[in-house]
Amino acid sequence: PAFTHQFNSDLFKGSTTVNTGLFINGKFVDSVDGATLDVYDPSTGKVITKVAAGSAKDVDLAVQAAKTAFKNSWGLKVPGQERCRLLSKLADLIEKNVDELSALEALDAGKPFLQAKTMDMVSVIGSIRYFAGWADKNSGKTIETTEAKFAYTRHEPIGVCGLIVPWNFPLMLASWKIGPALATGNTIVLKPAEVTPLTALRLAELVAEAGIPAGVFNVVPGVGSVAGQALTEHKDVGKVSFTGSTLIGRKIMETAAKTNLKRITLELGGKSAGIIFDDADLEQAIKWAAGGIFVHSGQVCAASSRIFVQEGIYDKFVEIFKGAAQSFKRGDNFDASVNQGPLVSQTQLERVLAYIESGKQEGAKLEVGGARTGSAGYFVEPTIFTNVKPEMKIVREEIFGPVAVIVKFKTEEEVIELANDTVYGLSSSIFTQNLNCALRVAHSLEAGSAYINQASIPDFAVAFGGVKQSGFGKDLGEYALESYTQVKAVHINL
Ligand code: NAD
Repeated sequence: PAFTHQFNSDLFKGSTTVNTGLFINGKFVDSVDGATLDVYDPSTGKVITKVAAGSAKDVDLAVQAAKTAFKNSWGLKVPGQERCRLLSKLADLIEKNVDELSALEALDAGKPFLQAKTMDMVSVIGSIRYFAGWADKNSGKTIETTEAKFAYTRHEPIGVCGLIVPWNFPLMLASWKIGPALATGNTIVLKPAEVTPLTALRLAELVAEAGIPAGVFNVVPGVGSVAGQALTEHKDVGKVSFTGSTLIGRKIMETAAKTNLKRITLELGGKSAGIIFDDADLEQAIKWAAGGIFVHSGQVCAASSRIFVQEGIYDKFVEIFKGAAQSFKRGDNFDASVNQGPLVSQTQLERVLAYIESGKQEGAKLEVGGARTGSAGYFVEPTIFTNVKPEMKIVREEIFGPVAVIVKFKTEEEVIELANDTVYGLSSSIFTQNLNCALRVAHSLEAGSAYINQASIPDFAVAFGGVKQSGFGKDLGEYALESYTQVKAVHINL
C-alpha cells in the first residue's frame, strides 16, 4: 500500500507517493500481524493515511537484516571512501527531492512549508553530507610505548544501531543519527515517532536509490512501547540512540542495562534559559527570544522557555515581546506568510492547555495568549506568563508548546543561580554586548550548549547534546563519531 497526495500551493505543486509498509532488507513489507497506525494532518485533525506498525517480530526481522548487512555488505567490508560516496549520493538525492520532503513534513508534522525547507531540510542535507566527509577520516592513533613495542587504535563500528526519534523534527533528528551511524560503518533500524512516520519512509526509497545495500538501513514505524521497546530489548542491537522525553530516556537506560548493556545516547528534554542583560541589542534579543520559544509552536527541545530579563530593561522588554508574540501568523502551512503551525496532536494540545491552566491557577500573570485558536487543527496562541515563582509547574516542567515564562533579575550571579535551578541542562542563550560577561555566564551555565546573541540553532558541525537530565552523548559534530564507534587497541611486540 502507498499514500499519494497532491500538493497544490504556490510554494509547492506536485504529488508525492510514500510506501506505507515497513522497510526491511531493502523491501517494503506488511507487519506480520497486520497492525497499522493512523497518520493525522495536525492542521485539520483528520486522518490522512495509515502506515504499517511494527511488532516485536517485525523488529527482530529488521535487526536480523541489519546484522547480516553489517557482516556482509557494510561495516568493515566497505571502505570509508565508498561509504562517503554513497552517503554523498544520498545527500544529493535528498536535495533533489527537497520540496517534496518539505511538503510531506509540513503535512505530517504540521510545520510551515518554508520552515521545513529552510530549517529542517537544510540541516538534513548538511548533516548527511558532513558525516559523509568523515567516513574515510575517522582513524585511530599509533602509540609508541617502548623501543620494541607499539600499539595502534582502531575506531570500529558497533554493529546494529537502533535509532528512536520523536515527532518535532522527524527527518532532521533522524538524519543527525543516520549520518554518523552509517559513516562509521554501522547498520540501522530506525523507529520514527508514532505520529510522524512519512518522511522516514520516503527517505528509505532514496536510500535504496542511492545504492546503499539492502539491510543497511531499515525503518520500522510503530508504537513506542511495542516497536521501540523491542528494539531497546533486542540482544543483537549494540547501541540505541534515542531522542525524546526524559521519562522514556530513563526507561531506555534501564532496559539497556537489563538486557545486553547496549551503548546508549540520550538526547532528552529541556527547560532552557534565555538571558537578556540590560546592555543587549534589544531588537535582536526580542527577535531571537521570540523565535527561540514560538517557532514550531515551542515544540523544540532546546526552546528558550524560561526568559530572564535584567531589571533595567524588563518593562520595555515585556511590552515589546508581547507584540512579537502576537505577530505570529497561524493558518495554512503552505501560505508563505504563515510562520506558526499547529501542535502535533490532540494529546499535545491537551497537555499544553493544561499547563496554561496550571499557570493561571498557581497565580502567574497571563500577559498574552493562552487559548486554542480555530476549531479544526491543534493551534495555540503564543503565550507569555510573568510574575512567576520558581516552584510553579510552568517554570519547572517542560511544556513543549508556545509558552514562555519571563523572570526579572538584578545581577549576573543571581541569574546564573536561577538559570541553573532546573533538573535539565540542554541549551541556553545569552544576550549582551559585554563579551566578558557573555563568556563568564556561558561557562557557568549547566547546559550542553550556550549561544551568545542568538537563539539555540544547532550547527551540524558542532557537538549537540545535554547535561544533567537532558541526557548524554552527542549527536552532531566530530564528537558524534565517538557515539557510534568503539576503540580497539592492538599491541605489537617487535
Ligand atoms: P517520547 O519520549 O514520548 O517519544 C520519543 C520516541 O520514543 C518515539 O519514537 C516513541 O515512539 C518512542 N518510545 C516511546 N516509548 C518507548 C519505549 N518504552 N521504548 C522505546 N521507545 C519508546 O517523546 P516525544 O513526545 O515524541 O518527543 C518530545 C520529547 O522529545 C520532549 O521531551 C523533547 O524535549 C524531546 N526532544 C529532545 C531533543 C534533544 O535533542 N535533546 C530533540 C527533540 C525532542
